[in-house]
Amino acid sequence: MKYVKSLASIIFIVLFSALTVVGIVYLSSRNSSVGDSEGVYSSGILFAMDTTLDITIHGLDEKAAKADVDAAVGLIKRIEALTSRFEADSDVLKINANAGRGAVVVDPIVIEMVERSAAMSGICNGAFDFTIAPVVSLWGFYNKEFRVPASGEIDSVLPLVDYRQVAADKGNNTVMLLKPGMELDLGGVAKGYAVEKVCGLLKERGVENALVNFGGAVGAIGGRIDGEPWVIGIKDPRGGAGDIIGRLELEDGYVSSSGDYERYFEKDGLRYFHIFDPGTGRQPEGVIAVTVAGPSSLEADILSTAVMVLGVEEGTRTAEESGGFELVVIDSSGTVSYSPGMKNNYSITVDSRI
Ligand code: AMP
Ligand code: MG
Repeated sequence: MKYVKSLASIIFIVLFSALTVVGIVYLSSRNSSVGDSEGVYSSGILFAMDTTLDITIHGLDEKAAKADVDAAVGLIKRIEALTSRFEADSDVLKINANAGRGAVVVDPIVIEMVERSAAMSGICNGAFDFTIAPVVSLWGFYNKEFRVPASGEIDSVLPLVDYRQVAADKGNNTVMLLKPGMELDLGGVAKGYAVEKVCGLLKERGVENALVNFGGAVGAIGGRIDGEPWVIGIKDPRGGAGDIIGRLELEDGYVSSSGDYERYFEKDGLRYFHIFDPGTGRQPEGVIAVTVAGPSSLEADILSTAVMVLGVEEGTRTAEESGGFELVVIDSSGTVSYSPGMKNNYSITVDSRI
């Protein structure tokens, strides 16, 4: 069995200079038209939440930009410590341990993530469900002991997957999973949430031109210092590391991508990836990659995961109805399609098929 976990943002979102592809993020600022000039700072590739993070800040001296990056990393570590399924003592583990038993007092960050995720789950008709954990666990994506479960096993955990059985109480700062055996997995939303909070923090600190790229969740503050927009490469889902099929310009906004190429294993010639249809407990079919652009990061992150499940038509409709989100989606035949408003709202060019 072969397991692949791409270094998501390394091969997934690629920055360019104004005209040429220069490769991965941490090289781009050095090779961009701004070059090595003063006022261009790149964090290089950092690791958090089991994925890659890089932050580019323009317009500040190195010392100030580095302090901003350090503050951002501190915030991400805090969000990770609260929401991870792998960090002992995280709020998520405490909530899971008390499923069906009692409400757990948690950090307001966790309440906010649960409440906003639940609202989006409703909008997505349950295609996004942050109680998907028992399914993810069965397929071995947590302990990396990958397996294809028997139908009976899947059927037995499906009743545990239901975001409506999560009670969040903002007044008392508590969360409770109502059924024993339920478990939270905030993996489909944590990166988008973190990018939103990091962009907020950087703006508060006076940053006016920055790009935050966190494992496929991207946030832009302003554009580049030379007045040009940030340019984001859209990965070819069947290409090699660094291969892209298009580019999207971004200023003051958010982009999130999901796909069947990010984490998967292969068995008997079939690809089994890390996103599941909460209705079936199996990988959805029909979409292999989606990139969502829009005005808020958490919602873009959720939508990108949900569109993998919803399929091209319903996914496109849901994204547009969610308030200003546009998408480009690649179906399993390799055909690329756009939401109707994408080209009016963004400068984007993508090959018509892969
Ligand atoms: P993303 O990379 O943002 O698309 O999120 C994928 C991650 O979200 C997976 O690794 C799982 O932890 C989790 N996940 C998988 N399927 C779903 C789903 N249908 N709804 C919510 N979270 C999911
Ligand atoms: Mg997501």
